[in-house]
Amino acid sequence: MSAIVTRIAPSPTGSMHIGTARTALFNWLYARGRGGKFLLRVEDTDKERSTPEATTAIFKGLEWLGLDFDDEPVFQASRAERHIEIATQLLASGHAYKCFSTQDEISQFRDAARAEGRSTLYQSPWRDIDHSAHPDEAYVIRIKSPNEGHTIIKDQVQRDVKIRNDQLDDMVLLRSDGSPVYMLAVVVDDYDMGITHVIRGDDHLNNAARQMLIYRAMNWPIPVYAHLPLILGPDGKKLSKRHGATGVEEYQLMGYPASGMRNYLARLGWSHGDDEFFSDEQAKDWFHLDAIGKSAARFDFKKLENLCGQHISQTQDAALLHETLEYKRIKDDEDSAHKLSKRLLPALYCIKQRAKTYGELIEKANFILIDRPIKIDEKAKINLSEDAISMLNTLTPQLHNVSWSREELEALGKFVAEKFDKNFGKLAGPLRAALAGQTVTPSVFDMMLILGRDETIARLADVNAKGSN
Ligand code: GLU
Repeated sequence: MSAIVTRIAPSPTGSMHIGTARTALFNWLYARGRGGKFLLRVEDTDKERSTPEATTAIFKGLEWLGLDFDDEPVFQASRAERHIEIATQLLASGHAYKCFSTQDEISQFRDAARAEGRSTLYQSPWRDIDHSAHPDEAYVIRIKSPNEGHTIIKDQVQRDVKIRNDQLDDMVLLRSDGSPVYMLAVVVDDYDMGITHVIRGDDHLNNAARQMLIYRAMNWPIPVYAHLPLILGPDGKKLSKRHGATGVEEYQLMGYPASGMRNYLARLGWSHGDDEFFSDEQAKDWFHLDAIGKSAARFDFKKLENLCGQHISQTQDAALLHETLEYKRIKDDEDSAHKLSKRLLPALYCIKQRAKTYGELIEKANFILIDRPIKIDEKAKINLSEDAISMLNTLTPQLHNVSWSREELEALGKFVAEKFDKNFGKLAGPLRAALAGQTVTPSVFDMMLILGRDETIARLADVNAKGSN
């Protein structure tokens, strides 16, 4: 079998939609899992709607998601000459014809067909007219679509989809200004790029039958098709802004890790048994077109968060630091990125366990990012009663004499609390207030170990000094 080549072919007309990201991921997984190639084609033929910003969003989106493509990206608009060449060949081989019908004639045909209850697909009178009878007027080039029989799309997801050929019109290939239409461009580009598998949204399923006409007329091999059902919102309606973010970069800005996004998007419409959490390597190994569901998948934000949390907790500390800094940079927060790069690493082992986003991770790291004298919030202040401060006063000098290990710190904490006839829980609140200024923090022992002896004692001394005022 020849090597597999897949592609993502987005139109640069807005932000990169999460559905496009999922399509890209499926193409990437399919190719990468089989030693094939994954290519990018920017379908920028719609001059009115295509923008450079949208093209940048595609590149950035793919980069963030880690979906690397092979070869140089192809820009569809730059290939117009080649598209025209193929239309001209089809004309020469008799698979296409010049049609001189005016817009008025086409409208009249449609009105009459509608009135008589016939199909409104245009039937050009120029289809079988000899060249010698051609006027010197503007024309379009149309494909000669077969009038009888069926076209069967052998789709890997939808299975065999049968379409009556008389429902396929003689579509235009070249407009009267000589410009190629999108349907022609897609086929010519896919052929020239050697695409073996077209995996894309099922909004293109009907296009497949019409595109197959061109493949057949050119005697080109038809690629394997897999048309993916739409992504729906949690309520079963088409995923839209109403449900939450739909653009890839919005998810990036919300601080989700790309590994979690890949895992979640892979599960949107595809499954491998009951596996929910998996690595890229596993997904590449397991991904198969047969296991793509026929019905639309619903976007589940809870599940996304849950998987992202698992990925954050499993990421190596050094890589996680790097990703968190990247996140801060795209948020345009260079200052805090700098501070994070100096302080975050030793804290990651404990704070990464329950963070679903980089933002949450940074929130949990707050105790290490703040400087003395730290601000104690109102809730935490409640834990600093006179009794509590006496306990802290007793504890602080003894911290000079312990080895800075979890065991000794725990033993000392318990010992001091017991001296005051309390269990350690009663000392934990005041310690959180003194060390972090908050009530919700990592464990007090982790904070002490991460802050180190000098900083811990200094923060406690600040509170003790205030308390004795
Ligand atoms: N440009 C099309 C889109 O963004 C994709 C066409 C294709 O995959 O064949 O929906």
